[in-house]
Amino acid sequence: MHYFRIEEDNSSVYTGHVEGSHKWGLPGIRNCTVCRATWGTDTRAYPSVDLSPVATLADFEEPRAEPIEEYERLCELARPFLPQGALLQPGAALGPLVGRAQGRFGPLVAPYSWTLLVQHEALQKLQAEGLRGLNGCRTQLRFRQRNSPELLELEILPMGRLHPDCLPPDRQPPCPRCGRRGLTRPDDMLLDTSTIPSHMDLFRLEDFSTVIVCTERFVDACRRLGLDGVTFQPLPMK
Ligand SMILES: [Zn+2]
Repeated sequence: MHYFRIEEDNSSVYTGHVEGSHKWGLPGIRNCTVCRATWGTDTRAYPSVDLSPVATLADFEEPRAEPIEEYERLCELARPFLPQGALLQPGAALGPLVGRAQGRFGPLVAPYSWTLLVQHEALQKLQAEGLRGLNGCRTQLRFRQRNSPELLELEILPMGRLHPDCLPPDRQPPCPRCGRRGLTRPDDMLLDTSTIPSHMDLFRLEDFSTVIVCTERFVDACRRLGLDGVTFQPLPMK
């Protein structure tokens, strides 16, 4: 099986533009007690999560950095609502994508390299092909036009890692407290075959969550069904 990276197709005829953020999220952390880093990123998103039952117990709306103890407390509040296989990190995004959208959209839409949206009908076609791991979640996007499409966000779980051969040899292990790796994504990525899930046709890398990966089966189905709007770049493996 071959694997591909999914990215926005800048050459496509679609003019659609999405501007939004997820309804809830975990804060970033300030001055980790072990590695001393202040950081957070919203590149891991779980749009199926409904935090309404605990939203009043803490602030999941204001993006900010907190001491790691507070971050860990909020993780425990959110954890019962996460999908199976979810991994948290400071700044993780939760709940539906809320915002505005405008223009003409293809069947697949990648507003950021770490976010993949799909029109409802296209998702049904992909699911009918038997592709695994496709969970379309409702968005709350306001369209400034008539005949607006129904855009769903795919919930993409982190799994699979890059091969050590494409990473700096002198890298440090992840911080044992906050999980920070502090690595820049290499230009020449090499997937680590031994970490690739065998039961999913779509996932994001666990160590570089901006990278969305799909199987050859996913690419073939999109091509056969004429589902465009994104590009598929082959990822070498080892
Ligand atoms: Zn740390």
